[in-house]
Amino acid sequence: MSSLPSRRRALLRLGRGALAAGAVAVGGTVSNVLAQVQQLFTPTRPQTEGPYFKPSSPERWSLLEDGTVGTRLVVSGRAVALDGTPLGGTLLDFWQTDDAGNYDNQGFSMRGHQYTDADGNYMLETVVPGLYPGRTRHIHVKVQLPNGPVLTTQLYFPNEPRNATDGIFDATLVLPIEQTDTGQMATFDFVVATA
Ligand code: FE
Repeated sequence: MSSLPSRRRALLRLGRGALAAGAVAVGGTVSNVLAQVQQLFTPTRPQTEGPYFKPSSPERWSLLEDGTVGTRLVVSGRAVALDGTPLGGTLLDFWQTDDAGNYDNQGFSMRGHQYTDADGNYMLETVVPGLYPGRTRHIHVKVQLPNGPVLTTQLYFPNEPRNATDGIFDATLVLPIEQTDTGQMATFDFVVATA
């Protein structure tokens, strides 16, 4: 399980310290940092569940199986509270289409749940989902704190032509995709209210 890039962790520490001290943004650099912190601690927006959720997905961090085809994708990040506190033990339940744009409604292909570690970290290994009629490219997820409320949302991809015409698409939920030697990777933090 990888950790957040050090830059973001430093930002979290700085943000917490500044907020705890009641710091006022006076300089350009401080203003910029606080603006980033504020963005980081903005709640992740909810999205519609859609028609293809199935309960009781297998517990696994990788959705790859023998024969899975498509562009490899690794998404990692943390679940954090509005003040940046890491939320260990948070349930993340992902579901998506396969590379060809099909959901598995009989079995559990491309479906799986996992729990964040004590520092709130998660990692999802999967493939880039395909397209199906009426929607842009997306991954569904439910985020549930231990004994807490459920955030249902979706993650999107940059530079997708259909982002412009999908009425559900939300630009704040776009994964910052980076190309790697083996596929794509992105970090995304889920910021959730704890009460
Ligand atoms: Fe969908």
